[in-house]
Parts: sequence; C-alpha cells; structure tokens
Amino acid sequence: MITAPRGTHDILPGAQFGWRDSARWQHLEAELRRISHQYGYVELRPPVFEATELFARGVGESTDIVQKEMFTIQPRGRAGGDGAGEPTLTLRPEFTAGLVRAYIENGLHNLPQPTKIFTYGPAFRAERPQKGRFRQFHQWDVEVFGAADAAVDAEVIEIGIALAKRMGLGDLEVDLNSIGCPVCRPAYREKLREHLRPHAHELCEDCQARLERNPLRVLDCKVDADHPAIRSAPVSVEHLCHDCRTHFDQLQRHLRALGIPHRVNPRIVRGLDYYTRTVFEVLHPRLGAQSALWGGGRYDGLIELLGGRPTPGVGFALGMERLLMVLDESAAPGPGAPRPDVFLAPLGAAARERALPILYALRRAGLAADIDYLDRSLKAQMKYAGKAGARYVAILGDAELARGVCTLRDMATGDQREVALESLVEAVRT
Ligand code: AMP
Repeated sequence: MITAPRGTHDILPGAQFGWRDSARWQHLEAELRRISHQYGYVELRPPVFEATELFARGVGESTDIVQKEMFTIQPRGRAGGDGAGEPTLTLRPEFTAGLVRAYIENGLHNLPQPTKIFTYGPAFRAERPQKGRFRQFHQWDVEVFGAADAAVDAEVIEIGIALAKRMGLGDLEVDLNSIGCPVCRPAYREKLREHLRPHAHELCEDCQARLERNPLRVLDCKVDADHPAIRSAPVSVEHLCHDCRTHFDQLQRHLRALGIPHRVNPRIVRGLDYYTRTVFEVLHPRLGAQSALWGGGRYDGLIELLGGRPTPGVGFALGMERLLMVLDESAAPGPGAPRPDVFLAPLGAAARERALPILYALRRAGLAADIDYLDRSLKAQMKYAGKAGARYVAILGDAELARGVCTLRDMATGDQREVALESLVEAVRT
C-alpha cells in the first residue's frame, strides 16, 4: 500500500480525526481571515516554490533551514529538455522571504504604506518528524512592511494572541528579546564569541560550527542548553545601542498597555538570520519540547538585502497544526461539520426519480440539501440523515408524491407534518 509521505498528514472530514478534522481547519482559516481583515491586513498568496537562492539569501546560509531542511527540486525534463540549466527551486520552508520578493517584484511600496500582509498555507522542511514537527505543515503568516515603530511590533504580537483567544486558547507565554542591529550586534557577537571560545570543544558539533559563523545560535541550542558557559553567556539586551534600547523599552511599554504579560528571555535568538531588534516566541505549556506556537520578529535589513529599497519589516508565523493540537488536547469542542438543512428520503427508485427536481429546486434556493442514492430502507435513510446532522427529513412516498405533498420531519423534536411540495423551500427555511 502506498502511504502518505513521512511527516505529512491528511486533513479529513470527521470530528473523530481530532486536530486533523477538516471542519476545524475551515474554522481556523475563517477566523484568521476575519481577524487579519479586522486589523487591516490584506492577503497576498505567493507561489509554493521559489528560486532556491531566495531562501539561501533571505533565510541565511548558516541557518538549519538552509543547511539541512530544504526540499529542493531541479526543474529538468528530458536531458537537455525543458528546464535544463534553470536555477533550482525550493518548496517554501517559510513565508517571509517569498512575501518580500513579491513586495519588491510587484512594486508594492507604491501602495499606501505601511503594507500589511497576511497569508496562510503549507510550508515544507525536511526535518525528522516528531510530535508537532512535520515535513509539511501550515502557517498563518503576518507581515508589516514599511513601519519601524515599536507599536507595530506590539500589534503583530497582539494579533496572534487575539486569534488564539478567539479559538478558545489561553495560558500563553510571550518570550521576548532584542538582538540589536548592525550598529550594536557585531560588538556583542564578538563578546559572545570570546566568552564561548574557551569552551568550544565542550559544545556539540553544530555549535562548534555556529560559534564562528553565527554565535547567537549557540544560545538556543537544545543540546547544550544547560552548559555553564551558555548559562553565563553575555546577553544581547545588555549590549544594545541607544536606538535599539529605546525601541525595546517602547515595545514593552506597548505590551503592558495591551495587558500582555511577557518575559525577557535572552535565549530567544530565532533560527533565521534576517532578524534585527525584536524577536519573540509565544509558547504553550502543553506543547512540551516543541512548545512554540508561533514566533517572529523584526527584520529591518531584509528587504534591502533582497534588492528592495531600505524598508523596515516585522512579522510572525504561527504553526496551524500546533494550535489545533493544543486545542484538541484541551478537549475544546470542534465546530462540527456543516449540517444539511434537509435530507430527501424517497421510498423506492420511482419516487427518487420524481424527487430529484425537488432536490435541485431546494439547492437552487440556496439550501443545503441531499438525497439518498442507494435505495435504502426508510429506517436506514433516517439513520443516515441523523448521522449527517440534517435538520429536516422530507419523506417522499409514491402516494404522497401523487398528491403533491411530503412528510416533513423535524429531526430535533421528532414532529412530523404534511407539507405541500411547492412550499417545501419555505418550510425548511423557517
Ligand atoms: P519558524 O518559521 O521556524 O519561526 O516557525 C514558526 C512556527 O511554525 C513555529 O512556532 C511552529 O508553530 C511552526 N513550525 C515550524 N516548523 C514546523 C514543523 N516542522 N512542523 C510543524 N510546525 C512547525
């Protein structure tokens, strides 16, 4: 049997599938669209794959994503045929780089500024699958291009919390840090390197490499988390330049005004190279080791790095599977599948033939209507309609049809009454 690839999931119809219930996904998608619009964000849908170089430059050569986790494809047909010599393509491992590319390429800086964008959909990383960590997963991504003010950092932190609340999720922890900017970070990075170098041989292999390339990443290493040299390492918030310090203080002031408790966690550095100043993660205790529901930060240099005009940016990506998993574990009730307004139960093939135009008329009137196609007994049809959650069942026997009526049963109360076929739409609608 051919099975779904490792680290991917089918999203299925039915509450028994828990967080994989498609009704829950539709509900989450409807809520995130609603809240994005409420906060003034508009949708941009970038392609699922991009030039590999975009992620190499935009996410950063030294990141785990680019080093180990990209699904890269060579667009090659027959040897020397279509695609030969074309640059390689990569399934998006995250959204920000693609959205920045789209912003630059389509001249979106000509739109009223700032440009506030959201999108959602699948992203792909060749990770070792485990709980909450998949190879295909979905993110809701929110970005603001063209605003440097700390109030915007606060807004993007708050919009995620607002969504989680609407979905019924509390107990969130906001971890915050500032990793400085090109003015103050080089000196801090050097200080960190000097502190860690004498211990290099005690660190994991990855950290030994990170130490020279990107020493901040050593701070969020899971393997070495308890190493005394890491615990005692200098922290970025104590080495910020004046402007970064002010920005960080303002952000915390805005969060307090919004009533969002947070803690400064100097270990939050984020895996992506493009961040400047604000970095944050929002955690939920029930997720355990993979506890970040979402994370993001500010990237004031990225748009310029990818060929645009110098433009500040800030945003985040929320893991939709992780949000639905936490809700499932907290036994939050799902929204349930959409329910038919009426189910037509014809008694026999001839009755069904005559019932089909009635079905079409109900649907054309905008009602959710369905019919039995399997010539089942009335009892079996009633059972099926009950399981589907139909509000009404219209029983159509030959004798009733001949008289131009049906028996309409209210499935909640069990009441039955005779209704003329020409007033069926009206009867179901009320
Ligand atoms: P990142 O883009 O790495 O900052 O991730 C942002 C959020 O996306 C995380 O907090 C997770 O909720 C989610 N996420 C990232 N990678 C994965 C993955 N491999 N599987 C499931 N969710 C993920």
